[in-house]
Order: sequence, then structure tokens, then C-alpha cells
Amino acid sequence: MTVTPTLMLNTGLPIPQLGFGVFQIPPEDTETAVTTALQAGYRLIDTAQGYQNEEGVGAAIARSDVPLDELFITTKLTNSEQGYDKTLAAFDASMAKLGIDVLDLFLIHWPLPMFDQYVDTWRAFEKLQADGRIRSIGVSNFEVEHLERLAAETGTVPAVNQVELHPQFPQNELRKYHAEHGIITESWGPLGQGKGLLDSSQIVEVARSKGRTPAQVVLRWHLQLGCVVIPKSVTPKRIRENLDVFDFELNDTDLDRIAEVETGMRLGPDPTTFDAR
Ligand code: NAD
Repeated sequence: MTVTPTLMLNTGLPIPQLGFGVFQIPPEDTETAVTTALQAGYRLIDTAQGYQNEEGVGAAIARSDVPLDELFITTKLTNSEQGYDKTLAAFDASMAKLGIDVLDLFLIHWPLPMFDQYVDTWRAFEKLQADGRIRSIGVSNFEVEHLERLAAETGTVPAVNQVELHPQFPQNELRKYHAEHGIITESWGPLGQGKGLLDSSQIVEVARSKGRTPAQVVLRWHLQLGCVVIPKSVTPKRIRENLDVFDFELNDTDLDRIAEVETGMRLGPDPTTFDAR
């Protein structure tokens, strides 16, 4: 069984460096996919209220013989439920769906700066953590300006910022800020969301030279950057392949070649203007 390395959060708790993301896995397929991932050895599961599949994650957890204290479960507050009181209610609803009493990591899914609620929302996160209902609290899609505001107006630095990050969009400045402030960077869309990254000649070439798949090379890149990475797949063979990345290393030549694919372009929305809720 693969043992995934861990990183240390600012709460003093470990987080597995590689986990299983369930974005866009249909609710009816989620229990099966998560069960496959748990059997393969994944211990971190990344869901969100907005994915509509927390119940499937909960069903897989309940069915699994992996003890709950070996799992690391993340979910995210959906955009429409920001604000102090709504956050508390939405958290309870998630916990009922997941079927657990204490959550490892709760994230604000998007900052939505135009609605100016993320500081109030964060205060509800602080309360839930103080009450022992969440072990670590974090954010997602926050830019430096949003992180700075949380730091200035509240007492708690996020344990994690989960952001779009892959070789085409490596987030060098944000990663540097995180490193300076003890925030773990978690990469979403790590494989480029099936939009061509894995077919780029540089990635394919490095993969061939290593006797690995393009997905494995890209996941290795994330690990060597020091990020937590949460690839998604519903294909059992790929689910296993994506976890089999702890027994090889990329050298400087490989990393230089991979750096050539950087475009500076996001695949997803810009957090400063994204306003869907
Ligand atoms: P991803 O980069 O993980 O891409 C997933 C796609 O890559 C799959 O659908 C499949 O087409 C392909 N793939 C997976 N494994 C492969 C392999 N071994 N070989 C070839 N192709 C492979 O994209 P994602 O699902 O968007 O991101 C991963 C996770 O990040 C999500 O499931 C979710 O948990 C999280 N996420 C968070 C946010 C956020 O706003 N916080 C946004 C998007 C995703």
C-alpha cells in the first residue's frame, strides 16, 4: 500500500501531499470513485458543497474499513452561503451529508470580493474551529490582497489556499507569499483539466525519458514544488496511476523543460472578478 508523504499545516496537523478531487464526478458515481481511491491508498478526499456529491463521499467513508482518523476530508463553503450565520448552517448541512463529526479542513470556495462577505465568513470559520468542529480552516482562490485583508482584520492565518496551479500557470508569486506566511499551497486543476497540458511535447518528452506517464510527471512536479495536489479521475487505472508518483524524481533539466509550457493563462475564472453565487 502506498504511503503518501504529509506536509505540516500551521495548526500543527499533517495533511497528505496527494489526495483525490471529486469535482464534476456525478453524485451517483461518487461513492464508487471514492471507494476506488480509498482502496488504492488515497487518504485525502477533496469535495465541496457546490459539487453536489458530499453524500457520495460520506457513503464511501462509511463503507470503507479505513479508520476515520486516517482520513483527511476537505469540503468548501459554497458561494451563496457566505456570511456569518449562513456559514454556520451550511457547515452543519455538509457534516450531515458527510456523516462525520469533525471536519479536517473547511475552505471558503471563492473570495467574491464584490460582495464583501469573506471576512464575516471567516469569523464563522474561526468559531467552528474554536468549537472543535473543524481541525484546520483555509481558503480557496484567494489572491494576496484577500489574504492580507484576512490577516489585518482577523486573528487566524488560513492553513491552506487552494488555487488553480499547474505547469502552464505555476502561481510563482502567490506561492512565494504562502511560503512566507506559513500557508500551504494546494493545486487545483493540477493536470490541466484535460485541456491539453498532458499532450504538450515537453511533458510527453520528460515522461518518455522517465518511463512514466505525462500525468505522473506533472503530479511529481507539484510534489517537488511543495504543493498539496488533488488530481481527479473516475477511471480506476488512472486513479491508481496518479498515486504512483513517490518513487522517482525530476531533475533540474526535467524541471527546465516543464517550465517551457508556462503560458501565464488561467484555465478557470479570475478570482478577483468571479461573482457566481
Ligand atoms: P484535473 O487537472 O485533476 O483534471 C482532471 C482530468 O484530467 C480528468 O477528468 C481526466 O480527463 C484527466 N486525467 C486524470 N488523470 C489522468 C491520467 N492519469 N492520465 C490522463 N488524463 C488524466 O482537474 P480538476 O478535477 O478540475 O481538479 C482536481 C480537483 O481540484 C477537483 O476534482 C476538485 O477537487 C479541485 N478543484 C477545486 C477548484 C476550486 O475552485 N477550489 C476548482 C476546480 C477543481
